[in-house]
Amino acid sequence: MGGRFAMAIDVGVTNVKAALVDPRGQLTCIISRPTPLASGAAGVSGALVETCREVLQRGGLRTKDPVAVGCAVPGSVSPEDGVIVSSATPSWVGVDVRDPLTRSFERSVTVESEGNAATLGFCAFGPARGQDHLLGLVLGTGISCGYVHEGRLLRGAGHTALEAGHLPLFTDGQVCSCGLRGCWEAHAGGGALRSILAARRAAGDELPALPEELADLAAAGDAQALGLWESQGALLGLGIAALLNVLNPRSVILGGGFASSWRFFKKALLRTARERALPRASGAAILCSPNPGWATLLGAAVAAVRAQGPADFFVDEVPSGT
Ligand SMILES: [Zn+2]
Repeated sequence: MGGRFAMAIDVGVTNVKAALVDPRGQLTCIISRPTPLASGAAGVSGALVETCREVLQRGGLRTKDPVAVGCAVPGSVSPEDGVIVSSATPSWVGVDVRDPLTRSFERSVTVESEGNAATLGFCAFGPARGQDHLLGLVLGTGISCGYVHEGRLLRGAGHTALEAGHLPLFTDGQVCSCGLRGCWEAHAGGGALRSILAARRAAGDELPALPEELADLAAAGDAQALGLWESQGALLGLGIAALLNVLNPRSVILGGGFASSWRFFKKALLRTARERALPRASGAAILCSPNPGWATLLGAAVAAVRAQGPADFFVDEVPSGT
C-alpha cells in the first residue's frame, strides 16, 4: 500500500480500535477487537500492540513507516508522561499506555483523552474545521469532552478539565461509573440508555436491549422508541446548555457511536440546549460530525501529527467520508 499514513489507536471501554489515517483524514485497515479489561493493564497493553501489528501488516507497512503514532484513551491524561490521571473506569487510573506502544514502535507516541483527541479531529476535518472556541463531545458509553481555545486544548491545573460527563446535574440521580450520583453521563450516555432499556424490559415493556436496536425501532416509526430518544436528547441538551453558559463556544460538534442516532434525538437536544442556555451563549452551532463513530480514531491521528509532525501531513481538504 503506497502513500503516507499516521497510525491511530482508540482504546475504549468496550473496544480497542486501530487504523491507518491518510492525509485526507480517511481511515483504512481498521481493526476493532474487545478490550480485555479483565486481564488488567498488561493485557490491555498487549492487545494494543497486537492490534497495531495487525493493522500495519494489513497495510503492508513496517513499524517505522507511519509518520506519527497517536492513541486516545477513556480518561484524562498527563501530557508529560502519558499516564491516565483520572477515568470513570477506576482500573484505568495510573495505566501507562504510552510505554508499551513506544517500545513496540521504537518512537514517541502521543496519548490524549478521547474527548481531547476527537476535538482536535473536529478542528482539522468536518464542519468546524479551523474554528476556535470549539467544544467537542464524544457520546459513547459515557460522555467525553474537549475544548479548543486560541488553538490550544483547555487542560486545567491537574489535566482533568472538561470531565463534562461528570457534571453533577441531579441532586438525587443515578449512580455514575465514577461512584458519585447524578452525573450527566449517568443519565444521558449510552450506558445510561442501556440501563433504562433494561429497567423497562424488566417491567414488561417490549423494547430491545441495545441503543443500536432502539435506533432501528425508531427508524421504523415506533412511537415508544422515538419517545425514548427524545428523552435522551433533552438530557443531552441540558448538559450542553450548562457547557454553553460556562464556555461560550462558537460551535459544538458531536461524535462517538451514540451520536450515530443523532437524527432521533437532534430536535429535543437542540430545543433543550437553546431554551436552557443564556441567550448570549445559546446561539452556538450544534452539529454532528460526518462520521461520528470514527471521530476519536481520526482525532488520535490528528493529535499525533500535531505533536510529532510533519506539519504538512494533512491536506487542507474536508474528507468526503470514511
Ligand atoms: Zn460521574
